[in-house]
Amino acid sequence: MKQINALESQVRSYCRKYPVVFEKARGSFLIDKDGKKYFDFLCGAGSLNYGHNNPIMKKEIIDYLNDDGITHSLDLATKSKEEFLNSFSKHILAPRNLNYKIQFTGPTGTNAVEAALKIARKVTGRTKVISFTNGFHGVTLGSVAATGNSFHRGGAGTSLNDVTFMPYDGYMGKKINTIDYLRRVLEDNSSGIDLPAAVILETIQGEGGINIASSKWLQSLQDLCHEFGILMIVDDIQVGCGRTGTFFSFENMGIEPDLVVMSKSLSGFGLPFSLLLLKPDLDKWKPGEHNGTFRGNNLAFLAAKTAIDYFWTTQELEAEITLKSNILKERLEKMAKENISSDIEVRGKGMVCGIDCILEDLASAIQHQCFENGLILETCGSDDHVVKLLPALTISDDELREGLDILEQSIKQVMNQSDFQKKLEAEIVEK
Ligand code: PLP
Repeated sequence: MKQINALESQVRSYCRKYPVVFEKARGSFLIDKDGKKYFDFLCGAGSLNYGHNNPIMKKEIIDYLNDDGITHSLDLATKSKEEFLNSFSKHILAPRNLNYKIQFTGPTGTNAVEAALKIARKVTGRTKVISFTNGFHGVTLGSVAATGNSFHRGGAGTSLNDVTFMPYDGYMGKKINTIDYLRRVLEDNSSGIDLPAAVILETIQGEGGINIASSKWLQSLQDLCHEFGILMIVDDIQVGCGRTGTFFSFENMGIEPDLVVMSKSLSGFGLPFSLLLLKPDLDKWKPGEHNGTFRGNNLAFLAAKTAIDYFWTTQELEAEITLKSNILKERLEKMAKENISSDIEVRGKGMVCGIDCILEDLASAIQHQCFENGLILETCGSDDHVVKLLPALTISDDELREGLDILEQSIKQVMNQSDFQKKLEAEIVEK
């Protein structure tokens, strides 16, 4: 660890919170160099929905490499690309009646977001984009311009242009429909808000604090987009690929976005891979206009196809997620209310959940205590005040319960050791 700290840039972040050297990983566990085992409820910030080293994908990858399968090919046509496209089209798009062209972007989520913003601007001829408070879309310049968090925005070192932020669902309190405000400014020629090319949003804000948009809000937003000729971009990078209980987070929400951005768990094995889904009439790119050396990672094509064929050709995984989601939500509600405060809110859907600890220090102390006790999880929200849980969708019930036991024990330790109770009460009274 000392060597890493000495050699690696100051920009490193997760390894500061979990200061051990990890060596191995399997399923829902990470194992450090000393052999200590940790439950992994961070899961690569949502990149490991099927767990670490999933044996089904691992076998395919090893066989493929042993057979001299192609690993790098720019965007040449390869067998693994063809098979992925066929599988994605047949098992993901067709059963959901979705008609999208598939664009392979550079391997990071933020590159796919850049592609979505570029094509939306190109097609509409407009420059402005509307993003939402607490939204997170990545840290390259176009994406960070659409990201609310001032810490990440500050890292840009230049002005961030052409994005207007509007209040997300619930931002002004539960009783205020923020779409009314958006409608008002779009209708008013003197609002100072130019007609945008697109809106970009997450259906559940993963980094922003597990804020969940209701289907009613999403539908009203879509209606507004249709009325004003604005494109709707859904960033499903963190909460897609089954995280919320369905493959796409917007399924059953009554919307059909014009553009969808995917990454993280798409490859199913933690391999870098991103794509942009575009309604066919939006596919106005000239060949190579948005490109990248590592578009279309063939090992990721293979792993992603394997994951789709294994997990998404039956209803089994979805049923499992529903069951485990109930365990997760019930346990979290109970432990938060009993051990922290009855005013604590637990938010979540499917297998993405957060405990809003109100105080950053409290969330951070719980995260630290969990690490000491053998559970890795993340904090999120505007002030990092939400403890976030992203267990693998494939975790067993027993493992999930054990991980949650550690969380509960850690919360108890933290609440017993310090004066958080008093601080929390003061904060709640103030609010
Ligand atoms: N969009 C969302 C919703 C994300 O959660 C993230 C990463 O956490 C990104 C975009 C950026 O993806 P990447 O870190 O791969 O660039």
